[in-house]
Formats: sequence, C-alpha cells, structure tokens
Amino acid sequence: MVYTKAVEKTAHYDVLVVGGGPAGVCAAASAAREKAKTLLVERFGMLGGMMTSGHVSPILGSVGAGTMSDEIVALLAKAHPGSVAPVTRNGREAQVDVEEAKTVLQNFVHESGAEIFFQTTVIDVLKQGNKVCGVILTTPTGLMAVEADCVIDATGDGYVAMIAGAKYEVGRDGDGYCQPTTLEFVIDGVDETQAITCFGGSDPVCLPDGTKYSEFCKQANQRGELPENVTIVRLHRTHYSGERSVNATQSNRHDTLSLQGISDALLDLRNQIDQVTAFLRKNIPGYENCRVKSSADVLGLRETRRVLGSYVMSDADVENGNHFEDVVVHNAWFLIDIHNPTGGGQAEKHSKMAKAYDIPYGCFVPNGVENLLVTGRCISGTHRAHASYRVMAICMAMGEAVGIAAALCSKSGTTPRLLPVKEIQKVLQDRGIQLFDD
Ligand SMILES: Cc1cc2nc3c(=O)[nH]c(=O)nc-3n(C[C@H](O)[C@H](O)[C@H](O)COP(=O)(O)OP(=O)(O)OC[C@H]3O[C@@H](n4cnc5c(N)ncnc54)[C@H](O)[C@@H]3O)c2cc1C
Repeated sequence: MVYTKAVEKTAHYDVLVVGGGPAGVCAAASAAREKAKTLLVERFGMLGGMMTSGHVSPILGSVGAGTMSDEIVALLAKAHPGSVAPVTRNGREAQVDVEEAKTVLQNFVHESGAEIFFQTTVIDVLKQGNKVCGVILTTPTGLMAVEADCVIDATGDGYVAMIAGAKYEVGRDGDGYCQPTTLEFVIDGVDETQAITCFGGSDPVCLPDGTKYSEFCKQANQRGELPENVTIVRLHRTHYSGERSVNATQSNRHDTLSLQGISDALLDLRNQIDQVTAFLRKNIPGYENCRVKSSADVLGLRETRRVLGSYVMSDADVENGNHFEDVVVHNAWFLIDIHNPTGGGQAEKHSKMAKAYDIPYGCFVPNGVENLLVTGRCISGTHRAHASYRVMAICMAMGEAVGIAAALCSKSGTTPRLLPVKEIQKVLQDRGIQLFDD
C-alpha cells in the first residue's frame, strides 16, 4: 500500500536531537550552550528516558571529571543534602528520585536555550542523497516536517539511523539474542529495622536467619515462586526510608524491535510485578507489608541496535582500558554487565570489570549516512563493549560530546565525518573536561 500526504514544514534548526534520555538531554543542552539553535524531540511527556519513564535508578558508571554527568548528578542530589554517591565497582552510584528527575532534566534543557517538543515522535527522515536533512514528526496536531543542519539519534534504539539506512547489529554473536527486558518498580511500606537491600546476584547479603539471599532467590525460582528467569530480586535503597527500587522482572528472547515482541514482553512483565511483590511479602523479613508505589511506563530495554560507525568499540578496548587520540569521552568505567540473554542471572559467571577506557569520536559517526550522529546506548560497539558503556553516567558524557560536534558542524557547514576531532576536544577542554591523563 502506498500512502501519500502533504506535510506542514516548520522552522529550520541548526541541531535536532531525537530522544530525551540521558544522552539526548545532554546532547541538546550541550549544542544549545554552543549557541546552536537546537530542538529536542521526545515521544513521551517527560525527559530522562530510562531514568524516568523506565524507573531506572541509580545512575551508574563513571567518566573523567568535569562532564555534564557531574552537573546532573549534583542537580539531582540538591534536594537531598548529605546524600552521598559512593564509588563502588559500579562506578559512582547516584540515587535518583524519578519524580524530581522529570523536572530537573526538563529545566536543565530549557535553561540551555534548546526548545523541547514533548509527546512528539520522529517517524521518518528527510534525505538528499545520503545526507539526512530533517525528520518527519507525529505531533499532537498531526504530521510535521522539520529541517536541520545536523541530526542526533539519541533514541536508545538507533531508530533514526536505521530509518536513514545506516548499518547496525543486534545482540550477541551466534544467536543474536539481546540482554533481557525488565519493568522496574518501586515499593514502599518496608520495615527498615529488618529489611535487607541487595545490589545484585553477587551481593553476599544474608537474611536475618543467616540464609544467603541470592541462594534463597534461586531456590524460590526453582519452586516456581518467582517468574521463570528471575533468579535474583534486586532491592535498591532510595532516598526515602521504607522504600526500595526493585529491579527483578525479566523477559528473555523476545524480538523487542518488533511490535509483537514489545507487546508480549509487557504483558508478561506487568504480571511479574505482582508475583515478585507476593514473594517479598511472603518470605522476606521487613517486606510483609510492602506495596507497589509506582512502576515504569515503558518496557526497559537494555540492548537493541548498535549502529555501526567509523570505529567499533571492541571487547578488548573495554577490557584493556584502551585510549585513543580522537577521544571524546575519557576514562569511562563500569562492569561488563551482561544480564543473561537466554536465562536467569548473568551471562558471564564473574562479570569482568572494565579498565577505564576512552570512547573515540568514530563510534558516534554512522557509516553510509551523512549529517547524522548517534549517541547513548546505540553507538558503535560490540555486544560486550555495549554491556559496559550503556550505563547512564557514560551516556550523558557521550551526549555532551556529540552535542558539541553537531553544533560545530552547523557553524562551519561541514559534516560530522569531516569535522576535525581536535575542534570537539578543544570545546570539551575549554569546559574543563579531562580528556587525557597527564
Ligand atoms: C531494566 C534496566 C535497568 C538498568 N539499570 C541501570 C542502572 O541501574 N544504572 C544505570 O546507569 N543504567 C542502567 N540501565 C541502562 C540505562 O538506563 C540505559 O542504557 C540508558 O538510559 C540509555 O540512555 P539513552 O539516552 O541512550 O537512551 P534512553 O534512556 O532509552 O532514552 C531514549 C529516549 O528516546 C526517546 N525516543 C525513542 N524513540 C523516539 C522517537 N522515534 N521519537 C522521539 N523520541 C524517541 C525515548 O522515549 C527515550 O526518552 C538500565 C537499563 C534497563 C533497561
């Protein structure tokens, strides 16, 4: 079927960012701070991506000093004097109040001078040859075309790059399966005098009778008390007494780039929230009276497309802590955290710690398409490298670097591929961001 329709054309922007997650928020604010006329388009009624609509907390990972990641963590901590973001093997663990984050992030972008279109989805790109020159949006009042000198794909899923014809990979080598999906939720009514917290399957926390909690969860899974692939119920502390953020529900093997896969996963995961809560109430001291306070609005996707760029971040880059002359994100650091794509727990028995590594500019410049940059979890890298750089602190630093690149392209009339990386590095360093070790 061919469907044609005239589309209203509106303003032209220097930089257009698609997706207002951790990467897109920083990309838009960063471009606007370089005085680029910037538009951020977000399909939901809030910014933050997984951090807000996905209820994902805390912000994990770390990068070299001075980036917008530090700025945002400080803004989110402002209402919680005395709250610390401890540095652990997860990088810096910064708690997020999801409701506060919605306001903080939109003001962060708004104050930078960038415009925001909420509840507006990019459905297609405008191209001249292999140059992306704008996008088609569905807005609350219908379709609209917007032109831009440079477009940034911060959709998490690499949707814009895919629709523009860029090459991408999905999942691990061999069977193509991605990390599982999860719906995170928050419970309250927890009795702090008894209740444990648990960061993950390797956390040695015990129940009051001395039973190892991770073993208890595995046995509950075998008894059928927990959903099929849920072998650990992660219970993260929040800013508030009596509350826990629960990262537990899990759905594997769905094709979450398809409508059917997303719908099936959501049908499964919403029901899992009740099952996990019933498990806690029945078995875990201090959780007898807990209740679900809120849950994610959208399916939590850890991994989908990885858009192939002029450099592909490799397993070795992350494992060995490789550094690059064309670095734009310095000293990124997190575990190689692969939730098992086909079962419970982790894919690798002992999740390896990455060594602080650089992300070079080439990871953000997709092959075969011009005037487009990619940022956030969908950049160019392998399945294992992605498992490290996908966390939010690192995605924010990526967004900031790419926002500068896009603004510079617009200013000088060049394309991301031809932009000298030294120019991006100069702006990053002028902002006080560390790019090289002494
Ligand atoms: C269950 C789960 C637990 C996690 N736990 C942690 C954790 O504890 N700590 C941590 O740091 N990280 C964690 N992560 C990883 C982290 O949340 C993500 O990798 C990170 O948010 C990616 O940022 P992003 O900006 O690239 O994409 P996203 O956060 O996915 O944001 C993408 C944005 O783009 C918008 N969008 C998408 N398509 C369009 C379109 N066509 N038009 C307009 N807008 C669009 C979306 O609505 C969204 O707002 C977790 C992820 C999951 C799924």
